[in-house]
Amino acid sequence: MMDIAYKDALKNSLFGYIAQAAEELQVDTYVIGGFVRDFILQRGKAKDVDIVCVGSGIALAKKVASLLPNNPKVQIFKTYGTAMLRFEDIEVEFVGARRESYTEDSRNPTVEEGTLEDDQNRRDFTINALAISLNKENYGNLLDPFNGLEDLENKIIRTPLNPNITYSDDPLRMMRAIRFASQLGFTIEKKSLNAIKKNAKRLEIITKERIVTELNKILLSPKPSIGLNLLFKTDLLQQILPELTNLQGVEYRNGQGHKDNFYHTLEVVDNIAKMTDNLWLRWTALLHDIGKAPTKRFEQGIGWTFHGHEFKGSKMVYKIFKRLKMPLNDKMKYVQKLVLLSSRPIVIATEVGDSAVRRLVFDAGDDIDDLLTHCEADITTKNPEKFKKYHNNFKIVRQKIKEVEERDHIRNFQPPITGEIIMKTYNLKPCREIGIIKDAIKEAILDGEIANNYEEAFKFMQNKATALGL
Ligand code: ATP
Ligand code: MG
Repeated sequence: MMDIAYKDALKNSLFGYIAQAAEELQVDTYVIGGFVRDFILQRGKAKDVDIVCVGSGIALAKKVASLLPNNPKVQIFKTYGTAMLRFEDIEVEFVGARRESYTEDSRNPTVEEGTLEDDQNRRDFTINALAISLNKENYGNLLDPFNGLEDLENKIIRTPLNPNITYSDDPLRMMRAIRFASQLGFTIEKKSLNAIKKNAKRLEIITKERIVTELNKILLSPKPSIGLNLLFKTDLLQQILPELTNLQGVEYRNGQGHKDNFYHTLEVVDNIAKMTDNLWLRWTALLHDIGKAPTKRFEQGIGWTFHGHEFKGSKMVYKIFKRLKMPLNDKMKYVQKLVLLSSRPIVIATEVGDSAVRRLVFDAGDDIDDLLTHCEADITTKNPEKFKKYHNNFKIVRQKIKEVEERDHIRNFQPPITGEIIMKTYNLKPCREIGIIKDAIKEAILDGEIANNYEEAFKFMQNKATALGL
C-alpha cells in the first residue's frame, strides 16, 4: 500500500483544535469512517467528518467549539448522544464510542457506552471502520482492526463481522454496500453478496426515504449500471422498482424477438452519466422505457409494438415517485415530461416541415436540450453505421430547432395576443370565445400559418372573431 503519512491528513487546523480539546478533556479521540476512507483514496475534499471519543461526544463538541476561532454553534441530538458543528463548509459530527445490539423488527439498535473497538465493530464495512488517532501519544496512527487498508487496496467491500448478521441487523447496509461498489468501482465480497441476497426481503423495514437516498447516490455514480446490476442480482431492485425489472427478458413469437429493455435501460443510464450530472436526467433515463412492459403487444404482420408506452410511462412516473415518497414537485414533472416526449425528436429527423419542430419546442420549453441529450443517450445500437446515422439525425434535429427558434421564438412561448386584449377589443366579459380565439392563434403560430408576433396575431384574431360572429 502507498506509504501515507496520516499526519498529513491532520495538518488541517480542524484536527489540531480537536486534538487540543481531547487533550484538555483527557478523552481518547479518533477521526473515523468515511473521512478516513476517502482520505486514503484521495477522493477530494471531505464534506463530513466523523469524530468518535471514548466518553461524551457532546462535551467534546462543546469544547472544540469553544476553541475554534469562529465559536460555531453546537447542534445537540440528545436521543442519539451526538453533536454536530460546522467548520468552514464541513459538518463535523461527534459521538461517544458505543456498542450496539439489535432487535428483529428495527434497524435502530439499543446502545451502550463502549470502547473504540466496540465502535469499530458496529461499523458496516472494513473500509468504513478505519480510525486515525487524534491523541497526543499516538497522534496520526491508523487503527485498522479488520484490514480495511488491504481491502481499500484490493477494492473489496467486506463486513467486519458475519455479513448475515450485519445485513440482517440493519438492512440499509445492503443498499450502502451496493452504493459504495458503484461509487468506488469496488467488488462486494462473495460471502457478503450472498448474504445480501439472503436478506433482501428485510429491506421492507427500511424507510423509502433512506432507500431513495442510496439509489440517488448509485444513479449519481460514474457508472450507475454497476449498482443497478447488483441491486437486480440481489433481488433488491425487484422490491424497489418492479416496473423496471419487469422490462427484463426477451420474448419470441414467430421467431421474432424484441430487445431486452432492462439491459438497454442500464446502458442508457451509463450513457447519460457520461454526459451530465443532472440527477433528474438520470432518473429520466432510468424510467424512460417503463411503459414498455404494460403496452407490449405482438401484432401479426408487424411484430412487437409498444404503442403509447411514453404516455403510459409518464403516468407510471407519478406512481413510482409517490410510492417511493419522493417529492411530487417540479422535478417529478420534469421526469414525466421528458419520458412523455422521449420519442418525439426522432420523428422530427425525418419530417420535412417545421411545424413538428415548433410543436416539440413548445411542448418541451426550456427542457428541449435535456430532451435531446436523453435521446442521444438512448442510442445503444451495436451497429456502427446505425450508431453514426442516429447521432447524425439528432444533429439535424438540433440544427432544425436552432433555426426555427431563431425565427419564431417558440421556447417559453408567450401568446402575442392575451385574453385581456381580446376582451378589450370586443368589449367582452370572460367567455368561451376568448379561449377559442387564443387557442386558434397558438395553433396558427405553431403550424406556421402566421408568425409569432403581435401584428399577424392581431389580424388573425380579427378574422377569427368575425367568423365567430363577434
Ligand atoms: P458518505 O459520507 O460518502 O455517504 P460514509 O461512509 O461517510 O459515506 P456516513 O453515512 O457519513 O457514510 O457514515 C459515516 C460512518 O458511519 C461510515 O463510514 C460508517 O463507519 C458508519 N455508518 C454509517 N451508516 C452505517 C450503518 N448503517 N451501519 C453501520 N455503520 C454505519
Ligand atoms: Mg460521511
